[in-house]
Amino acid sequence: MIELNTVYGPVQSWRFGRSLGIDAIKPPKKCTYSCIYCQLGRTARYLKSPRDLKEPVTPEEVEADLRSYMRKLNEADIDFVTVSGCGEPTLNPMLKGIIEAVRKVLPTRRVVVLTNSSLMRLKDVREALSEADITVAKLDAGDEKAYRIVNRPAPGMPEVRELASTIKEARRDFRCLMLQVMLLETTWGFSNVKPPHLSSLLDMVLDINPDVVQLEVPYRPPAEPYVKVPPREDVLRAHQALVEHLGRGRVWTYGLHDRRGRPVRWLAEASEQMVLELLARRPCTAQDVAQALSIPPSEAELILKSLLEKGEVASVKLGGLMYYVVR
Ligand code: SF4
Repeated sequence: MIELNTVYGPVQSWRFGRSLGIDAIKPPKKCTYSCIYCQLGRTARYLKSPRDLKEPVTPEEVEADLRSYMRKLNEADIDFVTVSGCGEPTLNPMLKGIIEAVRKVLPTRRVVVLTNSSLMRLKDVREALSEADITVAKLDAGDEKAYRIVNRPAPGMPEVRELASTIKEARRDFRCLMLQVMLLETTWGFSNVKPPHLSSLLDMVLDINPDVVQLEVPYRPPAEPYVKVPPREDVLRAHQALVEHLGRGRVWTYGLHDRRGRPVRWLAEASEQMVLELLARRPCTAQDVAQALSIPPSEAELILKSLLEKGEVASVKLGGLMYYVVR
């Protein structure tokens, strides 16, 4: 397997526009959850604490990678720097130093950290998250049954009620808290966008009262083939219920809110390595790759074809689109 950088993108994010990714974990995936919709596949082995992470990505590594990566990019073409990657970034005990390293290289860009919230009860984790401009915390369920179905937490992780009260309390330390909620259903009849699970989820979101709620759907290839995108009318009903309490500006819903589309002017030619860096962190279509690297779709297709022939990537069809993945 090719050696991957800790920096990738910028990806076109519907939430944050041109989002430069920092991978605080690096492949293979390491997480406290094994969400059924995870675009990185199932969690092969759970980690439960930052102490369990062997050879974590260091701030020095991120700083060096970022300085070298920025020779290919204009800083003005980055809207946000997002710390996440191949698993749960708060598993990295040096997360705070990583955020500081990003600020050293890109002092004018806002830093976002995506977390699944499971380790937020730890003081060091909260301290690290409070360094970010925006903390995006996951909450996909308002009751224990739905939480276990959707997130499949490692043994010993907090129950969902405890998780919610930790997020609510930690909110005071954060500059901006956004909640990220994945709305989904399964082929065997589960849905968190319908009764009985929806009302407890909405109540919990409103009780936390974040600055923004992001409602997503699993449109990229999920870990489990039985996961489905829920009907649009269900998503819009959940959106409307939240808008009534929080106001339109605080509810970002996939398909209604879209910050994608502003181009990135690269100072280097697109390479197979750049495409691999991207695909190792999220499945992409040829169109996604073309947008991220500002190249024509035909050029993206040629690079993907070559990577497929070498066996470096695989393709998965979903919703009429062909996604390319590194697994
Ligand atoms: S979606 Fe995030 S929290 Fe869930 S298993 Fe994947 S990496 Fe972990």
